[in-house]
Amino acid sequence: MTKSNSLVAMDLATSLHPSTDARALEKTGPLIMDRGEGIYVYDTDGKQYIEGLAGLWSVAVGFSEKRLAEAAMKQMEKLPFYHIFFSKSHEPSIRLSDKLIEMADDPRLSRVFYTNSGSEANDTVIKLVWYMNNALGRPKKKKFLARQRAYHGITIGAGSLTALPANHKDFDLPVIPVIHLTCPYYYRLAKDGETEAEFTHRLLVEVEDTILREGPETIAAFIGEPVMGGGGVFPPPQGYWRGIEALCRKYDILLVADEVITGFGRLGTAFAFKKYGFSPDIVTVSKQITSSYMPLGAVLFGEALYNVVADNSHKIGTFGHGFTASAHPVVTAVALENLKIIEECDLIGNAARLEAPFQNGLRQLAELPFVGDVRGLGLLAALELVADKRSKCPFSEAGRVGALAMQIAHEQGLILRAIGDTLALCPPLIVTEDQVREIIERMRRILTLTIERIP
Ligand code: PLP
Repeated sequence: MTKSNSLVAMDLATSLHPSTDARALEKTGPLIMDRGEGIYVYDTDGKQYIEGLAGLWSVAVGFSEKRLAEAAMKQMEKLPFYHIFFSKSHEPSIRLSDKLIEMADDPRLSRVFYTNSGSEANDTVIKLVWYMNNALGRPKKKKFLARQRAYHGITIGAGSLTALPANHKDFDLPVIPVIHLTCPYYYRLAKDGETEAEFTHRLLVEVEDTILREGPETIAAFIGEPVMGGGGVFPPPQGYWRGIEALCRKYDILLVADEVITGFGRLGTAFAFKKYGFSPDIVTVSKQITSSYMPLGAVLFGEALYNVVADNSHKIGTFGHGFTASAHPVVTAVALENLKIIEECDLIGNAARLEAPFQNGLRQLAELPFVGDVRGLGLLAALELVADKRSKCPFSEAGRVGALAMQIAHEQGLILRAIGDTLALCPPLIVTEDQVREIIERMRRILTLTIERIP
């Protein structure tokens, strides 16, 4: 038995994989990755793939950044673990908070709380907001507004904010009070002839009607991914975020931007809220904060929320929330080095510069049969495949063509993600213009081969 065969057998005998059909995996076996180099990863047979999804929308600096390994090693040797519970602290976490606030560059964002993941960051938001409203004597103000097709994670709280069927079904979710509003999915949900501005107006009317129906005194926060990712990549229609911000201010509702995918340059700005010109009360980040070399999430918020929480912690005797590895010194040291690389190599500028070749190149693929919509911005994009381009009619068996395209993509050495029949791309921020061209050429080949094999 070769090493890779024995690993497959051991994996199948011992593991349960996230976001995977376990019985289907038993037939195919896992694709085992062995090493990384730049934007490429290599499997145990030595086959090279362009990592067109940056791992899980997350590896900004590519798969072989030695400086991150060195930063981890240095911190491991100095102080491999310490926590920041019980009034303790350490230098990497202090410096990282300072850096995050500098990068956010918004007077509303002046405080940081650390978690190990994006899900935990969003769970922390729920708890912070509830804690705040209890402290303010507003015990009814607890509901969250989110959107259909949102992905905010999978823990009990964040999983409730998520609105994808597979993350709810048979998990008894949602369990927190949350209302899922219409997804800003212009391609499919705009009415015939409706402009983007009209579509935005309709969505905002729905938000306001919902607030008034439920009572503003019951709505704590609105949470949204500035560009929705895991649900299918949906950039908001024109004017959407400014409109949501105005409604949140009008009804004293906290605005939460889940920047777990969009944070640290994905759209060509440090944060997506900069791109859309709004000012959230709370921001959650993860993924690109360490390029996923280490697990880390964070919640950024401002003095108003901080002061209420601080006073309440004083009244109770402590702020009773936190994780053993919150602000882990090795992880925060790696994050600091990663953000330094993002700045020194101007990776945010790189995403901005490559937006046109990447997005325009992909949009040219819309000339192919079955490619119904190509959308995205910065270095984040999706192509939606449909049975009939004119009527936008989806394929009869949702997800089958997407899965076929993903399989062909693997054969062609490109890792992408199929979300139903939508193909998502999100290359590492270190990608070059030549590599962008290569991704687009491979996509053309993959789509052509897929089209030939559509029954
Ligand atoms: N929020 C968004 C927008 C995400 O895309 C994700 C993960 O993909 C999460 C939250 C959850 O992050 P994690 O998987 O680290 O819990």
